[in-house]
Amino acid sequence: MKTPALSFEFFPSKTAEGAEKLRAVRQQLYVHRPEFCSVTFGAGGSTQDGTFSAVAEIQAEGVDAASHFSCIGATKARVREQLGQLQAMGVKRLVALRGDLPSGYGAGGEFQYASDLVAFIRAEMGDAFHIEVAAYPEVHPQAKSPEADLQAFAAKVKAGANSAITQYFFNSDAYFRFVDDAYALGVDVPVVPGIMPILGSSQLLRFSDACGAEIPRWIRLRLQAFGDDTASIKAFGLDVVTDLCDQLLTAGVPGLHFYTMNQSTAVGGILERLRSR
Ligand code: FAD
Repeated sequence: MKTPALSFEFFPSKTAEGAEKLRAVRQQLYVHRPEFCSVTFGAGGSTQDGTFSAVAEIQAEGVDAASHFSCIGATKARVREQLGQLQAMGVKRLVALRGDLPSGYGAGGEFQYASDLVAFIRAEMGDAFHIEVAAYPEVHPQAKSPEADLQAFAAKVKAGANSAITQYFFNSDAYFRFVDDAYALGVDVPVVPGIMPILGSSQLLRFSDACGAEIPRWIRLRLQAFGDDTASIKAFGLDVVTDLCDQLLTAGVPGLHFYTMNQSTAVGGILERLRSR
C-alpha cells in the first residue's frame, strides 16, 4: 500500500504524568511520518492552556502542529489574542470549530457557528493559517436536516476553509455519499476521513451516541458480546478498522486522520497491517 497523508489527533493531558506518557506516544507515532498532529481544544476555556503547550511541544519535536480552536462562548477580542499567540508560536494550521459549551456555561459569545470563526480568521489574519473544518457524513446531531447540515458545511468552505476532517464513521457509504453531495454543491477541498480505532466497548458506544456517529448493529452486537474481554475487542477492532481504511484508501481518499485517544498501539497496528497489504 502507498503511504497516505496521515494526521494524528491528541487531547491535552491534565496531569504531568499524562503529559509524559503522551510524549512517548507521540514518538511512537512519529515513525509513521504524519503530515501534522493536532491537539483538541476545550470550549469555554477548560483545556486551552494545555492545548497550546501540547501544540508548542509538537512544534519543538519538529512536527507540524494544528491547534483545534473553538469559538462558542468566545469574544472576538479573546479569539484575536489567541490567534496572535498561535501565530507567534509558529503554528500554521488550525482546526476551526464551533465547539460545545460544557454544561453550566451560559450561551453568550460573539460567534454562532464555525463558519463565523473561519470568516473572522480570514478577515483578521489573511492566509496566515491553513484552516481545517469538521464534516459530518452521518449528520451533526443538532442539524435541522441532513440538507441544512450539508449547506452549513459548504458555508464553512466558502468562508475560507482549506480542507475538512470528518467525524468518525464505520460505514464508508455515508462518507462517499457526503463527499459526492458536497462536491455537487461546489465544495472543492479535500475531505479527509476521521478514523476512530476501537479500543474498548462501553466508552465508544456512549460517545458515539453523543456525537452522532453510528455504530452499525453488527459491530455493536459483537462488541457487547465480548463483554470485558478487552483483548478480543481490540483484535476485532483492528480487523474492522483496518478493513475500513483499506476500503477508503482503495477509493482514493486524500488522507487519513486518526483519533488516537492518546494511545499508539491500535493506530500503529492498523498502519502496519495496511502497509503489509
Ligand atoms: P458548526 O459547523 O458550526 O455546526 C454546528 C451545528 O450548527 C450543526 O448542526 C450545523 O448543521 C448547524 N449550523 C451551522 N451553520 C448554520 C447556519 N448558518 N444556520 C443554521 N444551522 C447551522 N469539539 C471541541 O470542543 N474541541 C475540539 O477540539 C473538537 N475537535 C473536533 C475535530 C473534528 C474533526 C470534529 C469532527 C469534531 C470536533 N469537535 C471538537 C466537536 C465539535 O466541536 C462539535 O461537533 C460541535 O457540536 C460542532 O462544531 P462544528 O465546528 O462542526 O460546528
